[in-house]
Amino acid sequence: MIRLEGVEVRYGDALAVAATDLEFAQGSFTSLLGPTGCGKSTLLNVVAGFVPPSGGRALMDGAPVTGPGSDRGMVFQHYALLPWFTARGNVEFALKRFGLPRAERRAHALRALDDVGLADAAEKYPAQLSGGMRQRVALARALAAEPRVLLMDEPFGALDAITRRRMQQLLAELWRRTGTTVVLVTHDVDEALVLSQRIVVMAAGPGRVIADHRMDDGTASPEDTRPRIVAQLDTEPR
Ligand code: ADP
Ligand code: MG
Repeated sequence: MIRLEGVEVRYGDALAVAATDLEFAQGSFTSLLGPTGCGKSTLLNVVAGFVPPSGGRALMDGAPVTGPGSDRGMVFQHYALLPWFTARGNVEFALKRFGLPRAERRAHALRALDDVGLADAAEKYPAQLSGGMRQRVALARALAAEPRVLLMDEPFGALDAITRRRMQQLLAELWRRTGTTVVLVTHDVDEALVLSQRIVVMAAGPGRVIADHRMDDGTASPEDTRPRIVAQLDTEPR
């Protein structure tokens, strides 16, 4: 459903991502794993439509990606909630650009907040919420438009270990329930192993894919895969 064909990204003269071919199947859960600077965010932003490829193309259901759209939801590490809006207000605000009528926006927002376990906190302001709860609002904001693809860029990186674990469980549950296609950027091997069916390992200089581990076809277990990934991350020059 998502297809990158020879996608290359340059920032000025610098080659951030060398020509990359990747496909993400509908309903799949893939992690992009690699050290800082290997182009994980750049590739995700190409899929999101925030960064245009300098070469090649990104396709969503066969149509070139030309910008952000309601079919793709994005969650960042820094949730960037608007402090003057409640949790519900933040989700509703994000829905505004999709032209839903007000009542429907509200219903969507409340349902999304309920989905992430925040039904009771809908009228609270970001300052009244913990870090984990704020990230739940950010997740609700991305889910409210019922995107077919959920793109997440190190979404749990700023959370403490326990909250992070809870958010991972919530994400796994949402993925199973909704069948949304997930692409998760992380530099945490164990997070990738716990959550995903497939792990694409990247290396820097220039950013590129160096391995594609599939754990969903019964040929490799997470236990078999872990040492291979660790070796790949270790041996690649940074
Ligand atoms: P990652 O998410 O894996 O840490 P990024 O995609 O953020 O990697 O960055 C890949 C490379 O591109 C890095 O060398 C980074 O410095 C560079 N880069 C990222 N964004 C920009 C930008 N907006 N302008 C210039 N260089 C950038
Ligand atoms: Mg990044």
